Amino acid sequence: MTPVSADTEAYDAHALDALRASLAQRPPALLIDGRWQAAASAAALQVDAPGDGLPLAHIAAGDARDIDLAVAAARRAFRHGPWPRLPATRRAALLFALADAIERERIELARLESLDAGHTLRSILAGDLALGLRSLRDYAGWATKIAGETPAQSADAGAMDYFLREPIGVAGLITPWNAPFLMVLQKLAAALAAGCTAVIKPAELAPLSALRIGELCLQVGIPAGVVNIVTGTGAAAGRALAEHPDVDLVSFTGSTAVGRSILAAAAHSNLKRVVLELGGKSPVLVFADADLDRAAAAIVAEIAFKSGQYCAAGSRVYVQACVREALIERMQAAMDRLRVGPGHLADSDMGPMISQAQRERALDIVGHSRAAGARLLRGGHALPGPGYYFEPTLLTDLTADMRAMREEIFAPALAVASFADDASLDQVAALANDSAYGLSAKLWARDVGTVHGLIRRLESGQVVVNGGGGEAVLPFGGVKQSGYGRENGHVGLSAFTEIKSVRLGY
Ligand code: NAP
Ligand code: MG
Repeated sequence: MTPVSADTEAYDAHALDALRASLAQRPPALLIDGRWQAAASAAALQVDAPGDGLPLAHIAAGDARDIDLAVAAARRAFRHGPWPRLPATRRAALLFALADAIERERIELARLESLDAGHTLRSILAGDLALGLRSLRDYAGWATKIAGETPAQSADAGAMDYFLREPIGVAGLITPWNAPFLMVLQKLAAALAAGCTAVIKPAELAPLSALRIGELCLQVGIPAGVVNIVTGTGAAAGRALAEHPDVDLVSFTGSTAVGRSILAAAAHSNLKRVVLELGGKSPVLVFADADLDRAAAAIVAEIAFKSGQYCAAGSRVYVQACVREALIERMQAAMDRLRVGPGHLADSDMGPMISQAQRERALDIVGHSRAAGARLLRGGHALPGPGYYFEPTLLTDLTADMRAMREEIFAPALAVASFADDASLDQVAALANDSAYGLSAKLWARDVGTVHGLIRRLESGQVVVNGGGGEAVLPFGGVKQSGYGRENGHVGLSAFTEIKSVRLGY
């Protein structure tokens, strides 16, 4: 894998040093009502670079007091400010301007994200930046197409019935560290396109790209109070946002455990709407008629993407018995070729994990499954040295009850099981559906009956067949304990709207 030539400038070591130097100088501040200000506590949290474990920056430790201020600013901006009242074309134009500003800065933003979250520059440029821009521009286009309906009725009824679709109000956006830029941008784009105002609580471990998005929002002219950012811990800032009585909706991406607490907080406070994008344990089904070379390469590339810290990553592989050895051999070879190193180096294919705690958690799941009888074909260990690197890992001989088959490992670790050559589609689907999660499922097969038969049978918010493709922005989200609701497109937008029915007599 070589970097796309146009992006070789991204690997400029001097630019990276300059960025680190400027981050070290950055005063810890929250964005509230269009101004950068210190947290009420005046306290700060240190943000480390997962690539070397060294300090990168300090962020303000916001708490409930700052959330109160930010929500009040967002409420004022919603109730009295220009944002929901702007012509939709103007809102769209500002979102397109934000996209252009992000695109102009894509290399610098990718460097920032790579330092902060650890991922490779290449994966950020081709993945997060590209997807984020696509999603933002798609939402910008939808801003002018939000519509209610007017049912056909008799011309002389002396009445007019219709419904409006209005922005829901103040949106709380709580995001994780694994794709910090993309998660913030997607949620913010939906909120803003709908005419909502927002309070963002970015992940404490990788908050820096969110702060940069905030600066760019001000720069392109999004009015004060529309976008507020309160950094801080989940326990202090996140919880206060989820419990706040004046927040109309929380859109959350992260763990199932915290997702539950957000739903409970919504129920106990003001019954705010909740969108939950939680974890996954996505199955990969490989049939004998699949292109095994492509399948193996794609399965390994996906688990290496974000060092396995990707909610939709295929992490449970079920392969048809007659091609089991052939697939495993190819996956092993692909893992052997992966170069693990700092994300900002051109010859790294996979960066570090986000933290020592996440690495320990993954090691624990792998160790537990080995103790229960799983076979470790490669990897399974932390890599020595500074930074939180993890060996690409392949486990086989797994049974359904083992932790590596049930829990989100969130590390570059694949668990491989097989199904009988004569298994029915119902039997194969039952293996795939044997999970509390249902975010994504991957299918590698050529037989059209197998493909269509399984698409119908899989309990999943998404099915990716033969590596997927295309360019449409599709709704994304899960079933079962992978969450509630969908993000992206007009479906994602509608979560940020509320319907008002009108019965107009005259
Ligand atoms: P997490 O704790 O669920 O974090 C997600 C966001 O929620 C962060 O901004 C976090 O703040 C915040 N938060 C934490 N506790 C909160 C609370 N009580 N109320 C409101 N907000 C709260 O996830 P994590 O600890 O970063 O990762 C743990 C596991 O979650 C991972 O191992 C993985 O299995 C899963 N995960 C899934 C996704 C996904 O894309 N679906 C993404 C990340 C993680 P802090 O940053 O301050 O904790
Ligand atoms: Mg956390």
